Amino acid sequence: MSAKLIDGKAVAAEVNAETAAKIKELASSGIVPGLAVVLVGDNPASQVYVGMKEKKCNELGIFSRKCVLPQDASMDELMTLIDELNADKRIHGILVQSPPPPQIDERKVIESISPEKDVDCFSYTNVGRILTGDLSGFLPCTPYGVQVLLEKYQVDLASGHTVIAGRSNIVGKPLAAMLMQKGKNANATVTVVHSATRNIEKYVADADVLIAAVGVPEFIKGEWIKPGATVIDVGINRINLPDGKRKLVGDVEFEVAAERAGLITPVPGGVGPMTIAMLMRNTLKSCMKHNHLL
Ligand code: NAD
Repeated sequence: MSAKLIDGKAVAAEVNAETAAKIKELASSGIVPGLAVVLVGDNPASQVYVGMKEKKCNELGIFSRKCVLPQDASMDELMTLIDELNADKRIHGILVQSPPPPQIDERKVIESISPEKDVDCFSYTNVGRILTGDLSGFLPCTPYGVQVLLEKYQVDLASGHTVIAGRSNIVGKPLAAMLMQKGKNANATVTVVHSATRNIEKYVADADVLIAAVGVPEFIKGEWIKPGATVIDVGINRINLPDGKRKLVGDVEFEVAAERAGLITPVPGGVGPMTIAMLMRNTLKSCMKHNHLL
């Protein structure tokens, strides 16, 4: 492997240490950030994610409130809970773990969360803010984590071509909007490739910075990577090995890509730890704004 590894665990630990230090400082004034995580139903993966968020809150000194509704909960029940959390002064961030059961209209639920507590940055208001270059709201956690990794490793976005594979509302699209903005850690010339793009390899071969968020194991072949490129792999895919064991892989064929890239994120240990770290930072930011400290 000739590429240098981007250590997402180490950068996330740094971000978390900064968050914890600020929370400690606020505690002396009796201020405690609070995050409410709403889980509807019993999806096992969602339970794991909610547990991870709760644990990180506890580690950093964030008050966490876990609200669990049954699998058959109605929209009315969920909306009543969101209203209560919107009014709760101890809570500065609210998120509803995705995916909810089918009777839940996820968009309607997101829009019912106060934009000032929408720390996932999924609401029309906060997404619109990003698109117009207004950084007063929140940044969505995974794209924000990618941007911080690029910053920490001093990747110059302005001078080359950035290619994002994937156009989801939670990763590809907001990341493209963030990286193309005028300003620090941005100014990128962005191309977004997706399921309707022909000859994706042609775009990937021209990428100085490649960000993969496709959700297909090892979709981006190592030999497509431009020599010396920076490769950020957002993908988290579980695959079955011939011996019956399971393994986590990204959206990039890591072994071959790592021979060609200049910098590359591993999976796991790349973008993954950053997502929760940025959620914690957003919750702190929200708390500071609610207390007129920002
Ligand atoms: P998604 O399924 O919502 O979107 C995938 C995107 O990839 C779509 O826009 C689609 O156009 C594109 N795509 C799918 N198949 C394609 C193909 N064959 N050719 C070209 N484009 C194709 O996924 P998502 O929520 O954006 O997540 C993407 C990946 O990132 C998943 O593996 C997910 O698990 C992972 N993820 C990781 C984190 C993290 O914290 N590290 C957070 C969110 C998502």
